[in-house]
Amino acid sequence: MSKLVIAIDCDDVLLPSTYAIVDAYNRQYCAQVSYQRAHESDNTEWSAPRAVVHSRIYAIQLTKEYATIQPFSEAVVAVHRLASAGYELHMVTARSGILLEVTTAMVRNYFGKGVFTTLEHVGLDATKGDVCKRLGADVLIDDNLKHLTHAAEHGVGGLIWFGNYPWQDSKTIPAGIKHCADWTSVMSEIEKHANA
Ligand SMILES: [Mg+2]
Repeated sequence: MSKLVIAIDCDDVLLPSTYAIVDAYNRQYCAQVSYQRAHESDNTEWSAPRAVVHSRIYAIQLTKEYATIQPFSEAVVAVHRLASAGYELHMVTARSGILLEVTTAMVRNYFGKGVFTTLEHVGLDATKGDVCKRLGADVLIDDNLKHLTHAAEHGVGGLIWFGNYPWQDSKTIPAGIKHCADWTSVMSEIEKHANA
């Protein structure tokens, strides 16, 4: 297998996050944010200016409850397999840099040191294409379509749309993007890229 550089999203790819954030936000701020629209930057369901929404989300992400969300067991197995096979793995997350410690602890606890070459925190409302280009990523695995389309514009050829979530309209999959509902299907897609 060739040594692909693989960029892997964190939230909702390695562990379930959106449901926890939306549930906590709705509970604390009496809002009615839907899972369907949770990732739209201009979604007014958050019922606050964007800067306020961001600081509220950061506060939720800095809680013990959030820090102790466990990764999907199949993601842990898959990431270890990829690392053992010699792939260069980078986590590319839309988490803010202020979450670096939370992310680092989670990675250390569940994935081990050195599995990811870097942990890239691009920030909420940012896109991931530039980072993927800088890393020389061959593949991006992400549950959020906007990051995949942005990565495509920056020359990333392997675009894997992960999961089966309410915020994904997988009836309309853009050309060049492969929808993989689970990690088993992600692994076979990566194998195709490695052998291409
Ligand atoms: Mg995500």
